Amino acid sequence: MNFHVMTLFPDMIDNAMGESITGRAIKAGYISVNAVDIRDFAKNKHSRADDYPYGGGAGMVMQAEPVYLCYRYICENIEKKRSVKNNSADTSQENIIHKTPGIRVIYLTPQGKTFSQELAAEYAKEDDIIFLCGHYEGIDERVTEEIVTDYISIGDYVLTGGELPALVMMDAISRLVPGVLNNCISAQTESFSGNLLEYPQYTRPAVWRGKEVPPVLLSGNHKKLAEWYRKQSVIKTALLRPDLLEGAELTQAERELAYEITREMD
Ligand code: SAM
Repeated sequence: MNFHVMTLFPDMIDNAMGESITGRAIKAGYISVNAVDIRDFAKNKHSRADDYPYGGGAGMVMQAEPVYLCYRYICENIEKKRSVKNNSADTSQENIIHKTPGIRVIYLTPQGKTFSQELAAEYAKEDDIIFLCGHYEGIDERVTEEIVTDYISIGDYVLTGGELPALVMMDAISRLVPGVLNNCISAQTESFSGNLLEYPQYTRPAVWRGKEVPPVLLSGNHKKLAEWYRKQSVIKTALLRPDLLEGAELTQAERELAYEITREMD
């Protein structure tokens, strides 16, 4: 998985992605992160990539041309890499059209579709993804119309820029790229898979300030453990996110249990 990020703040992206699990995944070659500074494509003395909004109003707007040139630069590099891989000699400019086919360009915007685990799984199947991070009041609509394929929000609130949302998305997507997590079971049993939340987790010591871990966890009985995990997932989902249960595949007994819990909460 190759992430390409169009941003005014590439260090934010590189620093955060270079840490912890994503940092190790980059070193191991499972993912790559290419943060490209939009300012490098601004053709003026001070490398300014924003200007005043037409019609007036507060704040600045990112200009279309530097964003577009940045996008073209990234696409050309992807195309070159792909043609080397496919042994094709043609890497000419003419080959690259406005929306390079097959490459998803995600504009992080509070106006977009809300990001979810389901979308993360969908994006994890791509070879290359381009993120476009806005700042200030946003980006000149004419360029987003040209290059963006997906409009994605990370929630109904407004942030100062698209870098944190891009990082949130890259983190969630990376975990689903084969090889990134040591334990591949982990991503399959986690919250939101099968529309259930994950069961509660415990670690040593077995007794903490008088509180014991559930005895089944120490039993070594895999069948009982699996049943316990499943039941706890249903209970936790009913308690914390009952809205998810509608899309979950539950047995009759599980449905009754969930119903009892949600009824008691009402
Ligand atoms: N004026 C814009 C509006 O009202 O829709 C908000 C602009 S916001 C201050 C600046 C940038 O932050 C946006 O262009 C976008 O890239 C990013 N951003 C802010 N909130 C976001 C969210 N909830 N999800 C994704 N991106 C967000």
